[in-house]
Amino acid sequence: CGIVGYIGKRDVAPLLLEGLQRLEYRGYDSAGIAIIRKTQSGTSLKTAKAKGRVRELEAQIPKRFAGTTGIAHTRWATHGAPSDENAHPHLDGDSKVAIVHNGIVDNASEIRAKLTADGVVFTSETDSEVLAHLIGRSQASTLEEMVQQALSRVEGTYGIAVLHADFPDRIVVARNGSPVVLGIGENEMFVASDVAALVRHTRQVITLDDGEMATLTAGDYRTYTTEGSRTSASPTTIEWEA
Ligand code: GLU
Repeated sequence: CGIVGYIGKRDVAPLLLEGLQRLEYRGYDSAGIAIIRKTQSGTSLKTAKAKGRVRELEAQIPKRFAGTTGIAHTRWATHGAPSDENAHPHLDGDSKVAIVHNGIVDNASEIRAKLTADGVVFTSETDSEVLAHLIGRSQASTLEEMVQQALSRVEGTYGIAVLHADFPDRIVVARNGSPVVLGIGENEMFVASDVAALVRHTRQVITLDDGEMATLTAGDYRTYTTEGSRTSASPTTIEWEA
């Protein structure tokens, strides 16, 4: 239903929770967040999810949920009942990949059956979880290619945002039939499914087309197609009554 993401220098959890609150008007049944956590022993993902309101999610987020890169989601269930487990983000088996997804993966049960036969253990009933496993199992050497390979196996609609613990400097996003908007800041980048979640921080936005993807780093962005060819998207300034 709703997606928010941020990469930059600010403490990401409060920023994402505030973004989710701005998407509440769209309705949802659960919410969740994933951040990149950097410690001396390396980078890892940290997630929190909760059925119900964003306030309930907030109550679960400990003080040391510190980080400057993250993605968040409000879910409107299509496959699998509203529950903590079915809330996004979804992780791959190694907990390296976190995805948030809007839309419907039409061939999810087919992919799920194949992955299950290969030994993959699913932790939710959602159609979305296949995306996390497909990305995590890709042998490609860049996150962008991993996401492209996964998307090439998927039929249906998506707006997605992806984090990977081994590629902690970026968020990769893609759109097919579900809105994805980039917000361009100064040494910080935003992504959302709705400009309402980012106008407080920047008025410079890029709306992705269907079949388009983007890589956000703190200082830069790049757009390209799901086949990998560059696209030339430049930001437009939106007018917004606060
Ligand atoms: N189909 C996904 C699910 O049921 C995503 C729903 C949404 O867009 O919030 O989890």
